[in-house]
Amino acid sequence: MRRLVLLAVVALVVTPLSVAPSSSADLPSADRWRADVREAMAGSRAYLAERAATAAPGERLAINLDVDNTMLATEYAAGEPVRPVLRLARTARRLGIAVLVNTARDESQRARTARNLAEAGYVIDGLCLRQRGTGAADGKQRCRASFADLGYVLVANVGNHPHDFTGGGYERAYRLPRYGGRLS
Ligand SMILES: [Mg+2]
Repeated sequence: MRRLVLLAVVALVVTPLSVAPSSSADLPSADRWRADVREAMAGSRAYLAERAATAAPGERLAINLDVDNTMLATEYAAGEPVRPVLRLARTARRLGIAVLVNTARDESQRARTARNLAEAGYVIDGLCLRQRGTGAADGKQRCRASFADLGYVLVANVGNHPHDFTGGGYERAYRLPRYGGRLS
């Protein structure tokens, strides 16, 4: 009887590990991810300062930021900002560069997304979401085009998925980890 109880206890302890979803079990550690993000963002603030200093008169500069696993640590620390990206956003605003958000979250999530970003410490100048029924890549390009229509020059584009970058319309890309598609 005692042995049965012991087996049951062992099973309880072991089971959650063995049924953990393979997607997150296969992901690198949070420390690894943070190091990879830091590496991808290296030099980005110096670049913004240099780009702001050489802006043409009247040129309206902006950065274009993806939300999940770029501005927000959605996978590793839900609700928390991705620190190097938050630092870039703060530097941008200090330099007079607008912070424009471009997400594949759809329009129904506008209020929630704005709240998530504010709670994580971001001050933003624009938020463009995907229209329902359209794909992520199309949505991202439509948003960049809408920023350009407002007169913005996108000097940096930060994201973690190929669909964040397809179609151009920005000067410099900062590509954060995607780990083979396991980060959204
Ligand atoms: Mg993303």
